[in-house]
Amino acid sequence: MSDTTGSDILVIGGGVIGLMTARELSAAGAAVTLVEMGDTGQQASWAGGGILSPLYPWRFAGPVTALARWSQQVYPTLCTELFETTGIDPEYSTSGLLILDPEEHADALAWAAAEQVQIDTLTQAQITEKEPGLQTDVREALWLGEIGQIRNPRLTKALRTAIEPKVAIREQEEVLELRVTDGRVQGVRTRAGDIDADRVVVCTGAWTAELLAKLGRKPDIRPVRGQMILFYAKPGQIRHLTLYRERYVIPRRDGRVLIGSTLEDAGFDKRTTAEAKEELYRIATAMFPLLKRTPIEDHWAGLRPGSPSGIPYIGPYPGAEGLYVNAGHFRNGLVTGPASARLLADLLLGRDAILPPSAYALEAMRA
Ligand SMILES: Cc1cc2nc3c(=O)[nH]c(=O)nc-3n(C[C@H](O)[C@H](O)[C@H](O)COP(=O)(O)OP(=O)(O)OC[C@H]3O[C@@H](n4cnc5c(N)ncnc54)[C@H](O)[C@@H]3O)c2cc1C
Repeated sequence: MSDTTGSDILVIGGGVIGLMTARELSAAGAAVTLVEMGDTGQQASWAGGGILSPLYPWRFAGPVTALARWSQQVYPTLCTELFETTGIDPEYSTSGLLILDPEEHADALAWAAAEQVQIDTLTQAQITEKEPGLQTDVREALWLGEIGQIRNPRLTKALRTAIEPKVAIREQEEVLELRVTDGRVQGVRTRAGDIDADRVVVCTGAWTAELLAKLGRKPDIRPVRGQMILFYAKPGQIRHLTLYRERYVIPRRDGRVLIGSTLEDAGFDKRTTAEAKEELYRIATAMFPLLKRTPIEDHWAGLRPGSPSGIPYIGPYPGAEGLYVNAGHFRNGLVTGPASARLLADLLLGRDAILPPSAYALEAMRA
């Protein structure tokens, strides 16, 4: 069976990257089909925390910072637009990020000066004033007051609803194979049959290497499990994003508080573990003793698309004309999503690119 829907472009994967890529391409006038093996927005893009900054941003390579900074500029307007067109509020808030690790101060302040980012140093009294429920011995903390967050499950729902009138969305349809003949992509084979397309964008997150391996060379993307727990506190009891020793606390508007996250090499096993739950609970309640009086509401795991240095692969797949990849965003797919989608669309449509694309190119793929 062959299905020629008249689409110019086929996007595979309905996470934040696939949804934003489909949105960009469709906004440029292309007829787009999006194929998703489950339901859209249910994998890493659902499981993530929604912090709109790389954690300890000074540790990241320039190409990650560039994507993050471009996206940070557009997020407030993007969320307003999505809310207005869909009625679904992605809950963008400038929560500000408090970082408690003293050993990070020198690197953080040097980076802030070079990048012209506002980072303040807070005294103990200022920390208590900002976050009265926080228990900490640190004498000074870093304060990144401009850092925002979104509620990612709502963001992906809003994105899906926004593109639905224009993009053909096919859920519960796994792509089994990319069809490439004579160095040109012809479309894909799915569980339901063939879909023809002369331009295909692979946005399959942690599953990307598996799909591309059949073509011979694959990008270095592997699943990295992350677990989170969720408390239901009262709104305002915890006010800001707080980061300490690689673990963070995220307060949502309605009082829900997320604590994350683990970094685990567990293949495609998405099960949660009692050890991670216990560890996250211990850290959360040590930082915020008020959480001891709050039951854990949920505990989940997601598979990040891990890539070396966290730099995503964005661009054409060498050796298969018409085939593109936008994947491997590791810990930063939510914050870097808008720029990644725009860059991919620029490259595919032959427009001037928002960022120099060479740092994200797939040439470095291994066999
Ligand atoms: C615990 C945790 C916390 C995180 N916190 C943050 C954070 O605070 N800020 C931030 O920026 N990032 C965060 N991240 C990272 C972020 O969630 C990811 O980088 C981002 O969601 C990746 O988006 P994606 O669309 O590439 O992947 P996904 O959301 O996983 O989407 C890929 C989609 O492709 C589909 N798919 C795969 N194979 C096929 C196939 N063969 N056929 C059809 N469909 C297919 C999948 O079903 C899936 O829906 C976090 C991640 C985790 C797990």
